[in-house]
Amino acid sequence: MANLSPNRNPMPTRDPMERRRDFGEVALGYTTQQAVDEAQRCLQCKHKPCVGGCPVCVDIPAFIQCVARGDFAAAYEVISRSSSLPAVCGRVCPQETQCESRCVRGNKGEPVAIGRLERFVADWHAAQTDAAVTRPAANGHRVAVVGSGPAGLACAGDLVKLGYDVTLFEALHLAGGVLVYGIPEFRLPKAIVQQEIDTLRQLGVHIETNMVIGKVLSVDELMTGGGFEAVFIGTGAGLPRFMGIPGENRNGVYSANEFLTRVNLMKAYQPGSATPIRPGRRVVVVGGGNVAMDAARCAMRLGAEEVTVVYRRSAEELPARAEEVEHAKEEGILFRFLSNPVEIIPDDAGNVGGVRCVEMELGEPDASGRRRPTVKPGSDFVMEADCVIMAIGTSPNPLIKATTADLETHRWGGIVADKTGATSRPGVFAGGDAVTGAATVILAMGAGKTAAAAMDKYIRDKAK
Ligand SMILES: Cc1cc2nc3c(=O)[nH]c(=O)nc-3n(C[C@H](O)[C@H](O)[C@H](O)COP(=O)(O)OP(=O)(O)OC[C@H]3O[C@@H](n4cnc5c(N)ncnc54)[C@H](O)[C@@H]3O)c2cc1C
Repeated sequence: MANLSPNRNPMPTRDPMERRRDFGEVALGYTTQQAVDEAQRCLQCKHKPCVGGCPVCVDIPAFIQCVARGDFAAAYEVISRSSSLPAVCGRVCPQETQCESRCVRGNKGEPVAIGRLERFVADWHAAQTDAAVTRPAANGHRVAVVGSGPAGLACAGDLVKLGYDVTLFEALHLAGGVLVYGIPEFRLPKAIVQQEIDTLRQLGVHIETNMVIGKVLSVDELMTGGGFEAVFIGTGAGLPRFMGIPGENRNGVYSANEFLTRVNLMKAYQPGSATPIRPGRRVVVVGGGNVAMDAARCAMRLGAEEVTVVYRRSAEELPARAEEVEHAKEEGILFRFLSNPVEIIPDDAGNVGGVRCVEMELGEPDASGRRRPTVKPGSDFVMEADCVIMAIGTSPNPLIKATTADLETHRWGGIVADKTGATSRPGVFAGGDAVTGAATVILAMGAGKTAAAAMDKYIRDKAK
């Protein structure tokens, strides 16, 4: 029976005052009853506008119809035709600007909670113990994937299913990319990412960690001595940007990358961690994206008393997912909008003591379409701080460019690739943040899948 409620089923979450001091998952997921009830809100539109909003074109009405009739195995089958990481995407995709923004139910109420339903289906599937993995028949060709974030994982997954002998090279000691070193446990439990990686291993992907391509081996060496017929580069955009303001190299100033890697990958929050972080009483986080929200919420969980996000535009322009901003506010994170740091001020010992900021005003839209912030004259003010975390963006690391012959890159460092992922170097494909600059999990995953299809075609064409 159709559910005509204008409101979606709310996501059960943990109490903000309890969760803000630990790393347990914030959102608890729908119960079976909530999922079926929510699925019955879907109108099963013939023209499927929601699918057009999904970068990997999941057949959303089809999977939701399966949920509505309680056939969760069929729902999973529909999703997994297009997405290799549904438990991840159901948790971290910006659905409000993608599939859910196109949902017809949103015209007169709230859109169907597509992301929450995707998460429900993926978690239901993961809880089934009989989900056996069958190794595909080998096709006799070898390929390499460099980088194990969502782009690399998706590419490796599709290629191994086509019968390729796939080796995945990862610079860090754990595979998963930003999913393990950036996005915190309380938003994306690492066991979920591990499960995806274990499945790839069972399918036959060889994962080589602690392998910095460009240092230990180059892409050129992989293609010549290594015997790989094609290589996918999914090395992300992990090089942090700084503001270039006085005092930025003081003790107590972190890039969000370092801060989050120490927290998430190195488990700085656990007693006995090799890389503990004590952020002090007052923390200032500079930026307004998901990275800034994650850094602020981690700082709160590490014991800070006051955490303030300083953002140079207004609340309306915050690029972070709306749900994450909401959760951050519930947990007591403060926001100082239309403000920008100009200097990190020392304490008596020369460490971080405060941040001098200026107020900003919004002018005409800039190239990004957002209104350009300009400094309000004579508006200096000082915020006291023991720790400052810079979350103002990242770019691709130049190592691969510097060590790969004939690989064309943009001036900002991104690898030039066509829409199939093919680069200027025959046999070398690329996708994800390494090509687009910092973007989203689903876009990276989509790029990995597209490149896998192009690599398959390239190798089959060569073999003719
Ligand atoms: C803190 C944070 C929060 C985010 N939150 C969200 C969110 O909520 N929703 C969302 O959709 N997106 C989010 N994003 C963005 C999203 O995670 C990225 O767009 C996505 O992970 C990009 O995937 P990728 O595979 O291209 O690169 P990455 O995930 O960065 O993976 C690249 C991998 O390559 C490895 N590597 C790099 N160089 C080499 C080398 N030379 N040799 C071998 N390996 C190498 C890296 O160690 C890394 O493991 C977030 C990003 C961050 C940092």
